[in-house]
Amino acid sequence: MQQDFDFVIIGAGAAGLTAAQYGARANLKTAVIESGTKGGQALLINELENYPGIFPAVNGFEFAQTMQNQAQTFGAQFFSGKVQSVDKCKGLFVIKTEKDQFTAKALLLATGAKHRSLGIPGESELAGRGVSYCATCDGPFFKNKPMVVIGGGDAACDEANFLANLSDCVYLVHRRETLRAQAAVAERALKNPHIKPMLNKIPVKIEGTSKVEAILLKDTQTGEETRLETAAVFIFVGMEPQNELIEMAHRDANGYIITDENMMTSIAGLFCAGDLRAKPFRQVVTAAADGAYAAHGAELYIQQTK
Ligand code: NAP
Repeated sequence: MQQDFDFVIIGAGAAGLTAAQYGARANLKTAVIESGTKGGQALLINELENYPGIFPAVNGFEFAQTMQNQAQTFGAQFFSGKVQSVDKCKGLFVIKTEKDQFTAKALLLATGAKHRSLGIPGESELAGRGVSYCATCDGPFFKNKPMVVIGGGDAACDEANFLANLSDCVYLVHRRETLRAQAAVAERALKNPHIKPMLNKIPVKIEGTSKVEAILLKDTQTGEETRLETAAVFIFVGMEPQNELIEMAHRDANGYIITDENMMTSIAGLFCAGDLRAKPFRQVVTAAADGAYAAHGAELYIQQTK
C-alpha cells in the first residue's frame, strides 16, 4: 500500500525523533520509518547526563521513549520496517520497505552509524558469549567478574565506568599512551579505582571455547604479549556510517554524508542528520540539533518547490 507524506524520516534516533517533532509541529505530514527499536545510540546510554536541561541523568531508553511520545503527540506517524530502496521520481522521493511504499516531498536520512568490529580471531566466534558491543545490555551478566573494555574514546570510557559499578576489575585497553575521550570523561575513568588502564596495547586474539575466557594483548612498543583472564570483552572502537541507502549523495573520505547548514545533501530535498552526517562532534544533543535544522530545511524546501 502506498502512503503519501510531506516529510519522511528514515531512522528514529535522537536526530530522527527531533525532526519528527519539528516537522509535525510545522504542519508537515510527517512519517518516521525505523527497522529496530526507536532511540538509536541513545538507547545504549545507561545514564544520559550531558543533555542540557535534563538533570539529574536519565536512562537513554526512557529519554528516547519521551522523544517519541512528544513527536507522536504533535502528529508524527511511526512505521516499523526496513527500507529496501530510495528513489527520486518527478520531484518526489519513493521509499520502499518490505511491505509498504511511501512518497515524500522531502526525505531525511537519520540512519546513524553502527559499531565497528576489531576483526580479530575469537571476536565473531564468541559474539554473544562474552564478546559484546553494549555494556548496558550485557554487563549485568558478568557481575563481579573481570571484564575487558577495548577503545580509548568517549564510548569506551563511559562504558568502562558503567561496568566498574558491577565489577572491581575492569581493564581498559587502549592502543595509545593517552585516551582520546573528552578530558572529563577520560579523567573519570582513570580515577576510578575499579578500572585498570592497559595502555599501548592492541588486542590480538580472544580466547575461549564455549565462552570468553581470556584475551591476548600485544604491547605496541615492546611487542610483548600479555594474556588477561576475563569473562567478557566489550568492544568500543568507533562507528561506521550506515550510508547504504544513498550512494548518490556526496560523502567524505570516511563515508559520512556532507550537508549544507540546513542539513540538505547534494541531492535537492534529501536531508541527512545525526551520526550519519559529516561533522566533528557526535552527541545526542548535536543529533537533536541536526534534526531540528533538517525539519526546518525540509519545510523551506517544500515551500520553495510548490
Ligand atoms: P571514537 O571516538 O572514534 O573512538 C574509538 C576508539 O577506538 C579510539 O580510541 C581508537 O583509537 C580506538 N580504535 C579504533 N580502531 C581500533 C582497533 N582496530 N583496535 C583498537 N582500538 C581501536 O568512537 P566512540 O568512542 O565510539 O565515540 C563515537 C562518537 O560518539 C564520538 O564522537 C564521541 O564523542 C561520541 N560519544 C560521546 C559520548 C559522551 O559524550 N559521553 C559517549 C559515547 C560516544 P585511536 O584513539 O588510536 O584512534
